[in-house]
Amino acid sequence: MGSDVVVVGGGVIGACIAYELAKAGARAVVMDREASGQASRASAGMLAPLSEADGPGAFLDLGMEGLRLHRPLAEELQERTGIDVGYRPTGLLRVALNETDEVAVRRRRSWHMAAGFSVGWLDPARVHDAEPALSRDIRGAAYYSQEHQVSPPLLAQAALRAAADLGAVVRMGLNVEGFLISGSRVHGVRAGGEQLECDEVVIAAGAWSGAFAELPPALPVRPVRGQLVALQTVSTPLRHLIYSSGGYLSPKPDGLILVGATQEEVGFDPRPTAAGVAGLLHSVARLTPTLASAAFAHALAGLRPGSPDGLPLIGRLPGWSGIAAATGHFRNGVLLAPITAHLITDLLLRGRPRLPLEAFDPARFAVRAA
Ligand SMILES: Cc1cc2nc3c(=O)[nH]c(=O)nc-3n(C[C@H](O)[C@H](O)[C@H](O)COP(=O)(O)OP(=O)(O)OC[C@H]3O[C@@H](n4cnc5c(N)ncnc54)[C@H](O)[C@@H]3O)c2cc1C
Repeated sequence: MGSDVVVVGGGVIGACIAYELAKAGARAVVMDREASGQASRASAGMLAPLSEADGPGAFLDLGMEGLRLHRPLAEELQERTGIDVGYRPTGLLRVALNETDEVAVRRRRSWHMAAGFSVGWLDPARVHDAEPALSRDIRGAAYYSQEHQVSPPLLAQAALRAAADLGAVVRMGLNVEGFLISGSRVHGVRAGGEQLECDEVVIAAGAWSGAFAELPPALPVRPVRGQLVALQTVSTPLRHLIYSSGGYLSPKPDGLILVGATQEEVGFDPRPTAAGVAGLLHSVARLTPTLASAAFAHALAGLRPGSPDGLPLIGRLPGWSGIAAATGHFRNGVLLAPITAHLITDLLLRGRPRLPLEAFDPARFAVRAA
């Protein structure tokens, strides 16, 4: 039996797409060769578009829309599945550890304020009031009350469960090997010895999205490894996300503090390393010396889907019909998962996306190569 849409990849991106498609009434099948989401399992889950954007523009607009959608999505998923996806409006402190940092943090805050966002400045005494566990060496911090967080594995799990409850088929442990193609039209996938016909395919295969040689030009997506360390605390000593030039701390509701993250170009090697863990622990000692006594819970590594210009690829594949990409979300796939899901659903079922997609069109790379 055929289906309307096959989604290749069940990380946060594929899971949220399957959910939105199912909600819109499409018969969706989501396939992942492993358990849900390689990068998504290792992610800190910060929803921080202002901290991540380098200036106003399409990426910031996309990120702000992604952020806006997270709270209602979390409430909806909790209602449908009973899963608390860990959405917490914690706010984020971007701290300055030295003079150079302070200049950079103040400069970023200036363009944020010029763009109309409200961002406070805390002097060292107020930083200490807000977060007594932070180092006394901190020279000040910009306060982003609008930046929040979520638990990415729980978000993917809840979205997949809600999608399944709405009739989507979730198939884990199934590798998509290739596609059913007639001329320039894709009309299905080949997976685990099966052929599944469908009207549309969505590639949401994270760092592996460039691996489908049958559909030239290959999507220019590459793995960028990120390592995280998790520390277990008894009563969380931090209330906010803490972001610095040397790393970040993300306090979770269960007392875990995620310390991130490295950024390494090492191919498809998903293992945490001694050097990566050592560097992250060093950044903890600089930011929050009292965390030295926290229990080491575990280290994680994920392969972020990187793209040549750092922006996601959302839209139809150039030269092909019946297939779209939702990948290359690099450091912000969790933030961008809900808006990506809406955009793909708009594109496939409604013909018109709710935001302009030119900056994210996969064809931008094909044009440059031509
Ligand atoms: C350390 C770290 C920290 C991060 N922190 C943040 C953060 O704070 N905020 C934020 O927004 N983002 C963050 N990110 C980025 C974010 O995690 C990613 O952008 C996001 O998870 C990408 O999701 P995805 O679904 O595209 O990829 P993935 O989660 O990797 O899922 C892709 C899935 O596709 C499957 N797949 C691949 N090929 C096939 C195939 N042929 N057949 C079947 N299945 C296939 C894989 O098995 C995988 O499960 C972080 C990432 C890392 C590594």
